[in-house]
Amino acid sequence: MSREEINGIVFDSDSGFEGEDDLDLENRLVDPEFISDESDGDNPLRPHTLEEYVGQTKAKENLRVYIEAAKTRREALDHCLLYGPPGLGKTTLAGIIAHEMNVNLRITSGPAIERPGDLAAILSSLSPGDVLFIDECHRMSRQVEEVLYPAMEDFSIDIITGKGQGAMSYHLPLPRFTLVGATTRAGQISAPMRDRFGVLLRLELYSPEELATIITRSAGILGISIDTDGALELASRSRGTPRIANRLLKRVRDFAQVEGSGIITERLARHALDRLEIDELGLDNIDRLLLSSIIKFYNGGPVGLDTIAAVIGEEAVTIEDVYEPYLMQIGFLTRTPRGRCVTRFAYDHLGLTAPDDAVGGQSSIF
Ligand code: ADP
Repeated sequence: MSREEINGIVFDSDSGFEGEDDLDLENRLVDPEFISDESDGDNPLRPHTLEEYVGQTKAKENLRVYIEAAKTRREALDHCLLYGPPGLGKTTLAGIIAHEMNVNLRITSGPAIERPGDLAAILSSLSPGDVLFIDECHRMSRQVEEVLYPAMEDFSIDIITGKGQGAMSYHLPLPRFTLVGATTRAGQISAPMRDRFGVLLRLELYSPEELATIITRSAGILGISIDTDGALELASRSRGTPRIANRLLKRVRDFAQVEGSGIITERLARHALDRLEIDELGLDNIDRLLLSSIIKFYNGGPVGLDTIAAVIGEEAVTIEDVYEPYLMQIGFLTRTPRGRCVTRFAYDHLGLTAPDDAVGGQSSIF
């Protein structure tokens, strides 16, 4: 059996690779969805006002206008749909909307609302103007969605109790509330639901400069010493995602305390991130495995999503929502009608020679 090593991952010629056992797919440091170190209820790093919310200028400035206008008219804000990859600040923005409108925030998620009755219970407990945040709103069941439509549009729901001849229907008026829906997949929101959102805001990956501002702010709150170049170094390896930036800050602080002078400098940040095997573009072993697998087994692509998922042992939806947005943003991966292709930039980054027909990719590093 022949063996070959690409970027520290050992491939066997007949099947799979050996490096996979060493990869901790569950606890990936650069996973924007891995939130074990965020005590979400009272996360001190979450901004509370639009002023404190860094970046997303377009979405933020439009939202500022809508909030101001609704407040002047003394009305609830229109329903808002926030979409974009995980960790970019959708939950944070829902909290900010409630804070700026001076109303309560209720948080739930699509999969948590199992039956129509669960949603009816939540809706009937809202006060006028309240913000109801539904995360992963593309994952609501059809029956639950059908209760939500009239609630969003007419601020009322019809509740049916009992069965057969004894069934009774009650019409329950609701206070005017604001639904803030969040999704990583706008394409999977049903058309009738999408039409009922008055405001659609798309969140983009952050630039390294914006992330450096977030890191410096978080360091101030957590009492961590970091200099400007240290913050930029962390920022440039955070995949455009504030959640990852905050997580790396906490891990690198440990290295600064134990192996440095306590201050996060550029040198210390590089040392720590190298130890964590996060490279200068923020790619970790799993990203490198994904790219290397497409190169090794499929000549750089095109290859289907499900095939990639089977090869690296990850779910297709996770690859689509978590890994791909950043790899595509930096021009390492493209989507074609026939499947995913690795670009020349990815070959260069992995120190491999690209074949003549390799896709060029677009240099879109922010
Ligand atoms: P999402 O709901 O999109 O997955 P979150 O709102 O939970 O993301 O944000 C993840 C973390 O990133 C939060 O803890 C928050 O501290 C931080 N964060 C997100 N967006 C910003 C921002 N624009 N400015 C400062 N911090 C942010």
